[in-house]
Amino acid sequence: MSAETGTCVECGASMVPIRIVQQDRGCHSPLKYAAIDSTRSLVRGRYPLQGEISAELCTGCGRVILRAIPF
Ligand SMILES: [Zn+2]
Repeated sequence: MSAETGTCVECGASMVPIRIVQQDRGCHSPLKYAAIDSTRSLVRGRYPLQGEISAELCTGCGRVILRAIPF
């Protein structure tokens, strides 16, 4: 695993960065986010993305913390 990033607020164990990926038809893309009130583009059919989601995993209790990283 990667270097520790801090300690868990619930159990005090080490937190490590993890990558959350969506595996869809051979594609492994990082998780991204859009505004809650955004709508899909009529041309491309996609939501206007605002950034990626980073995550940290507690090595003790399994707690996962998500953070938004704007583009
Ligand atoms: Zn924990």
